[in-house]
Amino acid sequence: MTAIPIHTDAVIVGAGPVGLFQAFQLGLQDIRCHIIDALPHAGGQCVELYADKPIYDIPGIPMCTGRELVAQLQTQIKPFAPTFHLNQEVTQVTRLDDGCLSVHTSAQQHFICKTLFVAAGVGAFQARKLAVEGALNLEGTHLHYRLGDVSRFADQDVLVLGGEASAVAAALQLTLAAQTNANAPSKGPRSVTLMHRRDVFQADPMLLQAMRDAVAGGTLQLQIGQPTGLLATEGQLHTLQIATPDGHTVDRPVQQLVAFLGLSPKLGPIANWGLAMERKQLVVNTENFATDVPGIFAVGDINTYPGKKKLILCGFHEATLAAFGAAAIVHPARKTLLQYTTTSTELHRLLGLV
Ligand code: FAD
Repeated sequence: MTAIPIHTDAVIVGAGPVGLFQAFQLGLQDIRCHIIDALPHAGGQCVELYADKPIYDIPGIPMCTGRELVAQLQTQIKPFAPTFHLNQEVTQVTRLDDGCLSVHTSAQQHFICKTLFVAAGVGAFQARKLAVEGALNLEGTHLHYRLGDVSRFADQDVLVLGGEASAVAAALQLTLAAQTNANAPSKGPRSVTLMHRRDVFQADPMLLQAMRDAVAGGTLQLQIGQPTGLLATEGQLHTLQIATPDGHTVDRPVQQLVAFLGLSPKLGPIANWGLAMERKQLVVNTENFATDVPGIFAVGDINTYPGKKKLILCGFHEATLAAFGAAAIVHPARKTLLQYTTTSTELHRLLGLV
């Protein structure tokens, strides 16, 4: 069932660095917005692909990590209090007869907005799926791509698949829950195994040390190998078949599998919104970064124009001009003047400074 529509001046698709800065620039134009992202957190590529790596080319910030940049952007947009709708993909966009835009998400949210900003980067990040026969049938019941509520694993043998920080952190969280199980049966997992194709894990040193300590202490089991088969009876997973590096096959009793196989961006439904595209990018003009559909703008990595460079700095510039473009639609009776944040009392009012 679709919810009652939320009427708003602006919706931003994508909470990456450019989507976040778009909210700031809209705020300066006295335009409030809602931000939607498929991920459970803001930050786009900065957080998903290089959270702890340094960035050196943000003006005025000699060096910051991806995560730090996103944290600063989130602080910067606070005065404008955008509403976040995370963990949901924008699936459908249509233009209504009155010129407004109708936006639907995978979580059955519905927005009617005057302007839409597609800041979708390289697409919505989605979990890479386990490529083993029968995996699809077990998804959601015995196979998961997010940890979620650990109580659903009570008294079961859980295997976490993956070699990145997310897998290690999930395995440790389950291990803690399993220790609760020792004192209060039926609360946590019966056993926890971390499995990766080789004994090399990518995570920060503290997390890795905690993982090695848990293995040494016997609360976490380590399995090196690759999944080759899922054995289930009447839809109930009971065994994972594993190919080990020495060429053997091992059958491991498992009822719950949590796989962290990385994320891959998918352009997904954006291609069906009727917008002009070139090589999977949205075509925009460079005056205000509008697409060919009135009211829809595209900023950041998702757009294309002569000379386009996929840099955060360029996305910030695009978001600034797109906000001016939106002001003409949202406030048609107002003259859109260039004002400085340094000196404008109007901007100070919008920023909540006076
Ligand atoms: P993204 O960061 O990709 O964010 C887009 C967001 O939109 C995502 O969160 C996605 O989930 C969401 N989304 C997409 N489709 C939908 C949908 N239908 N519904 C809901 N949500 C959706 N740039 C620099 O300037 N300097 C650097 O040093 C630098 N280093 C980099 C290092 C690496 C390893 C990589 C991969 C990139 C680097 N970049 C750097 C590039 C920079 O990260 C991108 O230019 C920037 O992230 C683009 O921001 P964006 O907001 O346009 O898109």
